[in-house]
Amino acid sequence: MDISVVIPLYNEEESLPELTSWIERVMEENGFSYEILFIDDGSTDRSLDTIKSLANRNDRIHAVSFSRNYGKSPALNTGFRRAKGDVVITMDADLQDSPDEIPGLYKMIKEEGYDLVSGWKKKRYDPLSKTLPTKLFNATARKVSGIKNLHDFNCGLKAYRNAVVKHIEVYGDMHRYIPYLAKNAGYRKIGEKVVHHQARKYGHTKFGLDRFVNGYLDLGTLWFQSKFGVKPMHIFGLLGSMMFILGLLAVLVVLVLKIVSMNSETYHFYVTKSVYFYLSLAAMIMGLQFFLSGFIGELITRNSPERNNYLIAEEI
Ligand code: UDP
Ligand code: MG
Repeated sequence: MDISVVIPLYNEEESLPELTSWIERVMEENGFSYEILFIDDGSTDRSLDTIKSLANRNDRIHAVSFSRNYGKSPALNTGFRRAKGDVVITMDADLQDSPDEIPGLYKMIKEEGYDLVSGWKKKRYDPLSKTLPTKLFNATARKVSGIKNLHDFNCGLKAYRNAVVKHIEVYGDMHRYIPYLAKNAGYRKIGEKVVHHQARKYGHTKFGLDRFVNGYLDLGTLWFQSKFGVKPMHIFGLLGSMMFILGLLAVLVVLVLKIVSMNSETYHFYVTKSVYFYLSLAAMIMGLQFFLSGFIGELITRNSPERNNYLIAEEI
């Protein structure tokens, strides 16, 4: 099979028939063998019925329906586990992404050797309240992930070599960082293609402003995982040592001042009135906390099934 199209959807009944016939048309015009995988993320409208009737007249259409709304990432992950095509293409269900981009994306994976190609909505049809924070978000994501050539991490329209989707696990809200996940999994040829974008035709967006807060928190998590995921002591041990040294220095100051004042008639030094006393207390307790976090992190890592997963490019 050439292509699996994975489409996560949540309450998109109006868009589905139009989207499906558009994809079918593109596939037939280009002679691709394909499957369309709808992942119904717990829709409460008639989306599932619509998909059923679409699947009745085309046996290349398959669907999974969640019992409740889990989110876009779980939906994508479920589609990824099932996708059989050589190239896997993800696309939003709301007709904002154009199926006409499929042949171009397919070609970049198949002929130009890309592992992952992300769409870039260079000209966007979204409100300014969304496009402006998105610019900032992408700039941070580029910096943190080290994937310098991507302008639009969170574009719903992406193409993957099949092996890539089998080696990444998208959970929580991590769909925003799939290129970063792929890079951490060992896939380096990550490219970009300018894609046509349209204003939402039916329904409304499913994400609110909390996307930006959560987006940054997730980026922090991913950065931490990729840097210290299997060696947590390297960060916690360093922080702990620094804190401990600071505490030790403060204790020395307290000690010296006390000894000096004990031998002096006029100078009285009270340990509990000194900032250094409190500094030493706080720093040493924090240092110990960091160390303990590090040890616990190491124990967890030791038991993680991921600890020895390496992507081997070649064996000779
Ligand atoms: N979506 C989903 N589960 C959710 C939220 C969204 O499957 O909990 C789907 C949604 O139906 C659409 C895609 O993810 O197909 C992108 O969502 P949306 O268009 O609302 O995001 P935006 O374009 O505003 O970023
Ligand atoms: Mg949309």
